[in-house]
Amino acid sequence: MEIKENVPLKDYTSYKIGGPARFFCEPASVADIKNALTFAEAQHLMVRVLGSGTNVLVSDAGVEGLVIRIGRDFSYLSINNGSARVAAGLPLDHLITALASDGLGGFEQLAGIPGSVGGGIFMNAGAYGITLGDFVQESMVMDQRGRIKCLSQSEHGFSYRNSIFQHRDDLIILETLLTILPKPTEQLAQTINESKEKRRRLPLLPSCGSTFRNPPGTYAGKVIEELGLKGTQIGQAQISPTHANFIVNLGDATARDVYELIKLIQNEAAAYGITMKPEVRLWGQFE
Ligand SMILES: Cc1cc2nc3c(=O)[nH]c(=O)nc-3n(C[C@H](O)[C@H](O)[C@H](O)COP(=O)(O)OP(=O)(O)OC[C@H]3O[C@@H](n4cnc5c(N)ncnc54)[C@H](O)[C@@H]3O)c2cc1C
Repeated sequence: MEIKENVPLKDYTSYKIGGPARFFCEPASVADIKNALTFAEAQHLMVRVLGSGTNVLVSDAGVEGLVIRIGRDFSYLSINNGSARVAAGLPLDHLITALASDGLGGFEQLAGIPGSVGGGIFMNAGAYGITLGDFVQESMVMDQRGRIKCLSQSEHGFSYRNSIFQHRDDLIILETLLTILPKPTEQLAQTINESKEKRRRLPLLPSCGSTFRNPPGTYAGKVIEELGLKGTQIGQAQISPTHANFIVNLGDATARDVYELIKLIQNEAAAYGITMKPEVRLWGQFE
């Protein structure tokens, strides 16, 4: 496996924004991940894990250290006795479609959420009242010393768009075991179509989806709309005029443009005692 240098991360994020990773690799096996970690340890590099890059904002200066991208070489799926063993790099939407074609489901309302299964577990991705974490039985993870261990469902610490992985930056999700249920294929197809139909109303321009978590008791989009900030533009970044919790890249936005909109929203909301916590993961230096 090649460890590349100065790889532009804008090519690997849905935002199409971001400077280079000092070092970057796409492992094809668990052994490759271990080798990458050995390389990072020898050079005292910070390690970051990238899935499909649909929930990260990378700073314009990029990131130091090593970015390990868990991608298509980690996309196996095996089904056994009401469970699916799924590799972390498999796109969540592909998983849902593959299961549905076999008359299996459970989390089909999540169809259309971009991103990998690993990113979905890290973020506890969800929609329409369910989250991926609701279906996780256990996951195999690797720590920074290359040791593999199994985390039970309770050890994932799932809560709203949250998991233990957001509080420990030393764990790489390799694969997970998900509970699946037999369902009629027509019913699965209908739910998948309905979920995707609702998503067609979301902004089409590059974004990270929802920028902020919903504050307790309200919706982030509603707060931003009530602050009168819908449509506000800084540089080439804009608070979407159609969905206020999306900050979109109008074409040539910098990470700084997006970050300044994030700060603007946070400052204006704070004046009303509302704390706006980003859902998007910020990588690199912004201040
Ligand atoms: C148009 C659009 C719509 C969206 N709609 C929704 C929605 O409805 N609901 C929702 O919850 N989210 C939504 N999102 C956000 C995003 O798709 C999810 O958070 C998704 O689960 C992120 O997965 P990813 O593979 O892209 O993760 P990435 O963006 O690559 O990474 C996100 C975080 O996960 C970590 N990570 C990724 N893979 C691993 C791994 N294998 N091991 C350890 N850490 C890892 C990364 O280090 C990073 O901190 C949307 C995004 C977009 C662009």
